[in-house]
Amino acid sequence: MEYVTLNNGVKMPKLGYGVYQTPSEETERCVLDAIKIGYRSIDTAQAYGNEEGVGNGMKKSGLPREEFFVTTKVWISNAGYEKAKASIEESLRKLQTDYIDLLLIHQPFGDYYGTYRAMEEAYKAGKLRAIGVSNFYPDRFLDLHHFAQIKPAVNQVETHVFQQQKIAKEYMKKNGTQIMSWGPFAEGKNDYFNNPVLKEIGEKHGKSVAQVALRFLLQSDVVVIPKSVQKKRMEENFNVFDFMLTAEEMLQIEKLDTGESLFFSHYDPKTIEWFMSMV
Ligand code: NAP
Repeated sequence: MEYVTLNNGVKMPKLGYGVYQTPSEETERCVLDAIKIGYRSIDTAQAYGNEEGVGNGMKKSGLPREEFFVTTKVWISNAGYEKAKASIEESLRKLQTDYIDLLLIHQPFGDYYGTYRAMEEAYKAGKLRAIGVSNFYPDRFLDLHHFAQIKPAVNQVETHVFQQQKIAKEYMKKNGTQIMSWGPFAEGKNDYFNNPVLKEIGEKHGKSVAQVALRFLLQSDVVVIPKSVQKKRMEENFNVFDFMLTAEEMLQIEKLDTGESLFFSHYDPKTIEWFMSMV
């Protein structure tokens, strides 16, 4: 495994396993499969409803807790100091652990300054090894970064070959915050797995479209957490450290960037209304 070193010195695997939309009753099995393959970093969230499955999987693997890097996220309904504080305890209980490796604010809505204060406090108390944000576009990212006492170690944002986050990435880099991709395959949107550029490059290396897409992100210094409930695909997604894309191939993939989301924009009022309807 390769690692990145976060702004507080904590080492984080460059490749992890995501469990968004993994049904809670399947999560334990999925996490155990992933661990057997070699994944040690697991990305979940309060909103996914499967933190318990992640905790069970880690426990049942029999591996020591220190082997794992577990990430979870505070949901909007737990925004604000008091609620966030209680939700951190709840996440620790569900994950069956004394500490979380990385805790993120899931969305930049509600009293997220209060949330961040609760996270800073838990970080100082040793309950969190690193703290950060998710879905913070440059405006909100820079605002929070400027006023926070403990600078966000990570910003997890939609990042894949069609949305490479070139501008956002510059601001993160400048401020020492690690970019982490969600949706490295854009959940298959835009006929992702049949993309001719990725296919052709893959054929040259004897690799799949998924492997080329992950390799591109890794070589672009992006941390990735692909999701699959299928063991074969988990394996495929893990086997991305035995080849390198050439500078020319990187350039070809860079040209696929549209600079836009394939999901929704956090600048669009309709997106905000949609998020508010979930609280
Ligand atoms: P993703 O990883 O881009 O794509 C997952 C989809 O691709 C699933 O439908 C999966 O199907 C399929 N797939 C996986 N590997 C494949 C392969 N090798 N070949 C063909 N199909 C493959 O989507 P994601 O789950 O949205 O993103 C990854 C992780 O990021 C999440 O699990 C979550 O941890 C995190 N995330 C965070 C946020 C946030 O707001 N912070 C938002 C979304 C996601 P099968 O499962 O059937 O294999």
